[in-house]
Amino acid sequence: MKITLFWHRRDLRFQDNAGLAAALQSGHPVLPLFIYDETILEKLDKKDARLTFIFDHVERLADEAKEAGGGFLARHGKVETVFKQLLKDYDVAAIYTNEDYEPYATTRDAAVAQLAEKAGAEFKAFKDQVIFAKDEVLTKNGKPSKVFGAYSKAWQAKAKPEDFEPHPSARLFKKENLAKPKAGDAKRPTLKDLGFERHEQPTPPAKLPAAAVVKHYDKTRDFPADNKGTTHMSVHLRFGTVSVRQLMKQAQEVNIKLLNEMIWRDFFMMLLWHFPNTAEEAYDPKMRHLPYRDDPEQYKAWTEGRTGYPLVDAGMRQLNESGYMHNRARIAAAGFLVKHLFMDWKVGEHYFSEKLIDYDMSNNVGNWQWMAGTGAVAAPWFRVYSPDSQQKQYDPDYEYVKQWVPEFGTDKYPQPIVEHKEARERAIEAIRKGRK
Ligand SMILES: Cc1cc2nc3c(=O)[nH]c(=O)nc-3n(C[C@H](O)[C@H](O)[C@H](O)COP(=O)(O)OP(=O)(O)OC[C@H]3O[C@@H](n4cnc5c(N)ncnc54)[C@H](O)[C@@H]3O)c2cc1C
Repeated sequence: MKITLFWHRRDLRFQDNAGLAAALQSGHPVLPLFIYDETILEKLDKKDARLTFIFDHVERLADEAKEAGGGFLARHGKVETVFKQLLKDYDVAAIYTNEDYEPYATTRDAAVAQLAEKAGAEFKAFKDQVIFAKDEVLTKNGKPSKVFGAYSKAWQAKAKPEDFEPHPSARLFKKENLAKPKAGDAKRPTLKDLGFERHEQPTPPAKLPAAAVVKHYDKTRDFPADNKGTTHMSVHLRFGTVSVRQLMKQAQEVNIKLLNEMIWRDFFMMLLWHFPNTAEEAYDPKMRHLPYRDDPEQYKAWTEGRTGYPLVDAGMRQLNESGYMHNRARIAAAGFLVKHLFMDWKVGEHYFSEKLIDYDMSNNVGNWQWMAGTGAVAAPWFRVYSPDSQQKQYDPDYEYVKQWVPEFGTDKYPQPIVEHKEARERAIEAIRKGRK
């Protein structure tokens, strides 16, 4: 029997899934598949909380598929090796999936498309994790926009109600449209088989945020002590455990500020797709050879939340303990590393990439380059935020700080490791000289 394989990646849900809906209408029964990609897994710490998150959601999908009368394949290995085997073992008419815009993913997908072609199977990828991707929102001259305000305006002018319409994947996900693995082929790897330990980090349930959070978002989003001031949807957007269309529709109807923040996501994904080199180097060629400092002790103090700047320290401790950090603290912590310590943004980007449960290359690279003044969109390179002013503005009563830095206010809390004015002048001077 010919089948269509549906390959899940950043879309761990059956509901409102663009590629899955198309697969279920492909004319062949669908066998959903997830690959624990060795190339990605071998770089991760064996206690990485993201693996537990992914594993639990894959297992949930397998249960849901069984309940619907179908099956689910989960494999561990190099992606091309897994597909070579599957193309031998099954009569695969097509491989359907959703687009992924990161540099490694685009190369990997091109290789899988070639394998499919050789085996006489179709390979199709669909837009699912953003409203507009790649070339859909360009400037009047047909170029990728580097001005967020203009991009957001064009995005909002282009968006039509049908862009937020759910895809009928849940309705079509029924026995007559589903295939099962061959006998003996249904065994899925456990976390242990994958070489990982269970590490659960609290995340909100995979459902739309409470109406009150969305309603007041524009007034509450900037205050890190208010745990209900933002949606906490980033992890679900990263792994597709909630549909971006439903979230953005809710935002569009209730809170334009929230919609605008989410448009940053489309924007950064578009930029990374056009400029994949920016994952590794400054977008701005003039900013590629700055004489960044290397100071292992100060770097360690930053990672451990011991800089003596309470907002930065609270943020870093929230990150280390919970895998999440409030946006205001991300701004303070990143600004401190790239300007006050004058260290390479790539070092901070890398640290966040290991710790954030919502780590998303396009958002992380885009925001770090913004903070460092090196990106396609960026804060002016001479802007150095004062951590004390940010503290006064966003956590005036030190409520957030007290949540994460218990020794704050005692003599156990460290003195500032650098002085704001001196550090600011040092960074500005070094960038002024180092810009080519
Ligand atoms: C240095 C730095 C690194 C960051 N790294 C990441 C990252 O790896 N992954 C990530 O998802 N976000 C990242 N962000 C953006 C932002 O901090 C988080 O998306 C947000 O804090 C997540 O919490 P939330 O879901 O409650 O956000 P909310 O404020 O409720 O926003 C809703 C959604 O909008 C999107 N969004 C909000 N702000 C931004 C932004 N500035 N840029 C892009 N998208 C945004 C996110 O998808 C977010 O989940 C980073 C920001 C900075 C300053």
